Amino acid sequence: MLIPCPVCGLRDSGEFTTGGDASIVRPTFDNPDEAAWAAAVYDRVNPLGAHEEYWHHVHGCRHWLIVARDTQSHAISGARLAGAWADYQGDGPGDKQNGNKQDDKTGAA
Ligand SMILES: [Zn+2]
Repeated sequence: MLIPCPVCGLRDSGEFTTGGDASIVRPTFDNPDEAAWAAAVYDRVNPLGAHEEYWHHVHGCRHWLIVARDTQSHAISGARLAGAWADYQGDGPGDKQNGNKQDDKTGAA
């Protein structure tokens, strides 16, 4: 299975680890509701068909991705960066034409 990493390009899934369902909404850290936390940690569905899940490019750029995958056919319809990198539009590290936006995100020179 090949995963289209937005930073590295098309890569074998062996370079990644899975991080589970990307649709889980976790309570805020100051939320004391134990039932909400238990649901966020333990309640899972086993979807058949289109699904979004977290994948970590551990042997590549080390970014977390949200990958859209069909759980029945394993066809991947897209991938995007997760978390704080979600709006990154550059071509990856060393991207000079776009002003190396990756460094801009970290505040580095
Ligand atoms: Zn990557």
